[in-house]
Amino acid sequence: MFNISVLQEPESLEAAVEMLRADPGLRIIAGGTDVLIRVQHGGEGWSQLLSLRNVKELEAISLRADGTIVIGATAPFARIFEDPIIREHLPSLAEAAVSMGGPQIRNVATIGGNICNGAVSGDSASTLFALDALLRLESAEGERIIPIHEFYAGPGKVHLRPGELLTAILVPRSSYQGTGGHYIKFAMRKAMDIATLGVSVICRVKDGAFEDLRIGLGVAAPVPIRCAEAEAYAIGRPVTVECCREIGKLAVKATKARTSWRASKDYREHLVEVLTERAVLESAQRAGGRHAE
Ligand SMILES: Cc1cc2nc3c(=O)[nH]c(=O)nc-3n(C[C@H](O)[C@H](O)[C@H](O)COP(=O)(O)OP(=O)(O)OC[C@H]3O[C@@H](n4cnc5c(N)ncnc54)[C@H](O)[C@@H]3O)c2cc1C
Repeated sequence: MFNISVLQEPESLEAAVEMLRADPGLRIIAGGTDVLIRVQHGGEGWSQLLSLRNVKELEAISLRADGTIVIGATAPFARIFEDPIIREHLPSLAEAAVSMGGPQIRNVATIGGNICNGAVSGDSASTLFALDALLRLESAEGERIIPIHEFYAGPGKVHLRPGELLTAILVPRSSYQGTGGHYIKFAMRKAMDIATLGVSVICRVKDGAFEDLRIGLGVAAPVPIRCAEAEAYAIGRPVTVECCREIGKLAVKATKARTSWRASKDYREHLVEVLTERAVLESAQRAGGRHAE
């Protein structure tokens, strides 16, 4: 039984922002795959909802003239996986999209909901960290754009202000042009399982050496993280198995893994080392770099 006392269904972003201003107690529902579980469990404050389902302008995925890719916050994962812009320019995000849930969940679950629920296991988070994505947020106070790295406040918590909603994810051309990328989700099952670890890598290779390397990790700390020391180590070094192995080892230094029922701290650290090495090697190959044995 769903205890919903108010359901607002605005048909434009402007109307949604105004409704949130007039009633800051409204909670946003997009695909509802997280929210409806809270509602069903009688979660406090979850009986008054504002649905984004009819705000069609938030669903679009587009490529701006300056090369920025704009992903509407309510784009569902099935659409992200199939979208030609994403497939051509952000293939590792397409990999992340198809790794989440099962077909039914991917048809309704949105990328905005995946970020705004603050889950460190969210399958889109590590790739958006590696892509240096920006978030466009809007409220009655106006619009602000922040790096995704500044959005996560702790497990299940994000820096959304009262009356504010996420409208889009922006990926500037400089973040993806000429890169290769790869997302690896490690979970107990191949489908319909939350990540034990998510590793996403974006890199550029020039003359056989790393020119740029970005490593995003999910479930390796209380919030998604990047691996600064491992990334810095790579720059200018040749793409070799040995180098990628060292990058994997250094990636562990950035983590604050903990033991949970899914995996022990030691096991998670082992996964970080091994899967980062694999994701870096694969990304480098996709970026056009052949690795020397
Ligand atoms: C069976 C099942 C399997 C799942 N498997 C996976 C999986 O493999 N990987 C994974 O990452 N997740 C998984 N999930 C979790 C969930 O589906 C995702 O996190 C999903 O992306 C949430 O999106 P949604 O549109 O359904 O969000 P909702 O449930 O609508 O909202 C989630 C949260 O975000 C807020 N919110 C939503 N949109 C906005 C916005 N535009 N602006 C501000 N706040 C907003 C809501 O208020 C709420 O707090 C699974 C869930 C289920 C039920």
